[in-house]
Amino acid sequence: MKRLFAPKETHPAETRAAIAPSTAKKLIDLGIEVIVEKGAGQKSDYSDAEYISSGANIVDDAKTGYNQADIVTRVRKPEAEDLAMLKAGTLHISFLDPFNETELINNLASRDIAAISLEMIPRSTLAQKMDALSSQANLAGYAAVTLSADRMTKILPMMMTPSGTISPARYFIIGVGVAGLQAIATAKRLGARVEAFDTRPVVEEQVKSLGAKFVKVDLGDTGQTDQGYAKELTPEQLEKQRQEMAKACARADVVITTAKLFGRKAPLILNKEVLDQMQAGSVLVDLAVESGGNVEGSKVGEEVVTENGVRILGLENLEGYYPKDATLMLASNFYNLIEHFWDTEAKDFKYDTDDEILKGCLITKDGTVVHERFAGK
Ligand code: NAD
Repeated sequence: MKRLFAPKETHPAETRAAIAPSTAKKLIDLGIEVIVEKGAGQKSDYSDAEYISSGANIVDDAKTGYNQADIVTRVRKPEAEDLAMLKAGTLHISFLDPFNETELINNLASRDIAAISLEMIPRSTLAQKMDALSSQANLAGYAAVTLSADRMTKILPMMMTPSGTISPARYFIIGVGVAGLQAIATAKRLGARVEAFDTRPVVEEQVKSLGAKFVKVDLGDTGQTDQGYAKELTPEQLEKQRQEMAKACARADVVITTAKLFGRKAPLILNKEVLDQMQAGSVLVDLAVESGGNVEGSKVGEEVVTENGVRILGLENLEGYYPKDATLMLASNFYNLIEHFWDTEAKDFKYDTDDEILKGCLITKDGTVVHERFAGK
């Protein structure tokens, strides 16, 4: 019987776990023995007792788990000490940040680990159930709105009362992928007036269908990649975008930026010149802060207040801000991925290398870097 191990996350900012009690049960139903490190679900409010009631075994330390595991699921990329504990031939599934982690990938290959990178799961309809980038970005978009609401000195909805009328808060969302769409929907539900912008023209209809206004900027040819990701703008296009964004930012109480470029540094969209034109007390949430930042001066894990009183929130791990649900979604993504490739007769993970999903996300196998994008680096 194959054994799956979910260690306790070691990064201090990580709140999520790679397994929830409900998915532990489903993995056991597939015929997998499940081992969870003591306290793995502590920060997301899943107790060891709940994992045990689902049929999992708890181990006291990571070493004991790694020594027994055929499959490892974890949220963050493995640290050097985790790598040292992994057995040759183990299937390791986690976020890996493969564009920036060449050494880690080469180490995984040389240790004969089959590594799947969650970031590289194709954004296709078939793979939606295992798309961890989407499940987590969705929650980050929600959290960006609830946190901004908490940091504002104004409420979101319009209120007409005998004491007077309060106008609705004005939100401006830059970057309308999964997180941006959820931010729009959440801000609308709470009664804000919402505007949004994205360089991909196809997004305009989606913005309108949520009842928000699309800010039109003629940037010329922008387009998107065949995976639906934004292409990098030229410096001239980015300058034009900045000028147009400045107007929408100046009228907003909250600006949420989510603009990312897959595998590359996020574009710097709001510079000091734009921030200088914003109102005192307005709140800016930079969701791209961990991949370089969309906002000049935003800092990971900090709230920075500009000279003119704009609060820039550069929260770390916003995806895990509501860890109970984030863990549940992520654990489902892990389960769906394993289940999709599970050979019920052989009771083993089937490396179907002709499969488009696996081709997209399997980075190392049998001692080599098998993914064409990272091989030979
Ligand atoms: P992302 O996190 O890579 O980027 C967020 C948004 O920022 C994107 O919409 C991008 O266009 C935008 N952006 C980049 N540069 C910008 C700039 N200078 N100004 C303004 N906006 C900018 O995106 P994501 O949420 O991971 O989504 C990526 C793509 O994948 C989208 O097309 C999305 O619809 C698609 N997707 C498809 C599926 C599916 O079909 N199963 C699932 C999820 C996502």
